[in-house]
Amino acid sequence: MRSPLRALGLLLVAVLAACDAAPERLAVDWEIFGGQLVDGTGAPPRPGTLWLKDGRILAVTEPGLQPFTAAQRFDATGRVVTPGFIDPHSHGDPEATPAFENFTAMGVTTITLGQDGSSAEVADLAPYRARLEALPLGPNLALFVGHGTLRTLAGVDRDPNPSAEALARMQRLLDAALDHTFGLSSGLEYNPGLWAPERELLALAEVVGRRDRVIMSHLRSEDDDQLFAALDELFAQGRRARVHVAHLKSVYGQGVARGDAILDKLTAAQRAGVRLSADVYPYSASYTGLALLFPAWAKTREQFTEARETRSEELAAYLRARVLARNGPEATLLGSAPYAGLTLAELAERLEKPFERVLIEDLGPQGGSAAYFIMNEDLQRRFIQDPRIAISSDGSPTGFHPRGHGTFAKIIEQYVQAEGALTLPEAVRQMTTLPAALLGIADRGQLAPGLAADVLVFDPAAVRARATYENPQQLAEGFEAVWVNGVLLRRDGAFTGAAGGRVLRPGP
Ligand SMILES: [Zn+2]
Repeated sequence: MRSPLRALGLLLVAVLAACDAAPERLAVDWEIFGGQLVDGTGAPPRPGTLWLKDGRILAVTEPGLQPFTAAQRFDATGRVVTPGFIDPHSHGDPEATPAFENFTAMGVTTITLGQDGSSAEVADLAPYRARLEALPLGPNLALFVGHGTLRTLAGVDRDPNPSAEALARMQRLLDAALDHTFGLSSGLEYNPGLWAPERELLALAEVVGRRDRVIMSHLRSEDDDQLFAALDELFAQGRRARVHVAHLKSVYGQGVARGDAILDKLTAAQRAGVRLSADVYPYSASYTGLALLFPAWAKTREQFTEARETRSEELAAYLRARVLARNGPEATLLGSAPYAGLTLAELAERLEKPFERVLIEDLGPQGGSAAYFIMNEDLQRRFIQDPRIAISSDGSPTGFHPRGHGTFAKIIEQYVQAEGALTLPEAVRQMTTLPAALLGIADRGQLAPGLAADVLVFDPAAVRARATYENPQQLAEGFEAVWVNGVLLRRDGAFTGAAGGRVLRPGP
């Protein structure tokens, strides 16, 4: 798909370069010169000049050639020039924070919304989409439709045994939603998705496969002892559609060998014909609502109210065991007011009661979100180093977790510069062409003629993820210039105030 565009661009350059008789050179918007191009394919850096026109990369030329006249020039000497990063698993509300500065400050020029089974609760996405298109967006948006949302819209909600008519309704809603979305997201650890039987997931996978979209799944469980069963459930859908493991992790798994065993599981599925992909974020704490800690019979407000009345002791015992298995109350860092920044252990001490009683009496399943320190860094590093696995943030502008502001900077700062666990071209590939391919975004992710002009200029040695668990909403530093669709959003590390993002259109 890209090579005809590239050929056209090269031809254009050749014609213009050879055409001495035509002193009128084509006027373009930007010339980005002097830098080393890391083009997103994994190829080593090479010197070159990028020419942007009308939101696209018109040409990539050898240094020194001047086939065009640029309205504006950017000197990237001593820095690298890369495609903008594509985040395959992110969160946020575009109507609340359309600029998404947390993302663009760390080099992300495309984010994905509607994850983990939950998307805008509208049956017709066309007007919703039009509303988003009118916003002053920082990054581009690639939308997903949530499986849990389809259940709600189809009136299935928490029914564990939906009728054939109800499934047909969900299939029709999904098919219509795929006109505007890159695929289906599922969140099988959350309500109402957790009630879905296998036949429902397979029926929906059939629609996704027919439309050549992808199923992005927050698995039914990420606990180490249940991970393979949860993967098998997704791989069964993978016989009908492309499938993707969101934020691949092992909750309380330990060590490199366990990481390798999980990767072998993915390899075996691929060998069996499953078209699969995955993403990972570079932090050892997860972040989600407290409902994750509660049993399936006490997750919603009404279930919880009833459970507190009738099964209080059983609920307390469940919560105690669950939190202890997840490294204890010291490893649960509350992220919502009024207790943000306190661990569950600290709050229990302050309130002078056992932590499970705090969860029941003071917080509840709807009582906010928390970071859970449940991952092993050595194990997760194996995923980051796997060439099949894209980098995601799973973050948002408002979450009390550093991943929303730090992820892509942390990959450069820690995994490329400090540890040497990834080369720069490989890290850039896992943040550009790899996520573009798995999402089905054909015209972004690479520095090549004809592609959208989402471009970064930075010095890898100067990139800093400043977000911490204590202070998670600090913008990343070092991404000196950021273009989205040819619009310069950031210059010298400051926002220009311009908006360049679009709502991306999926394939037919
Ligand atoms: Zn998730």
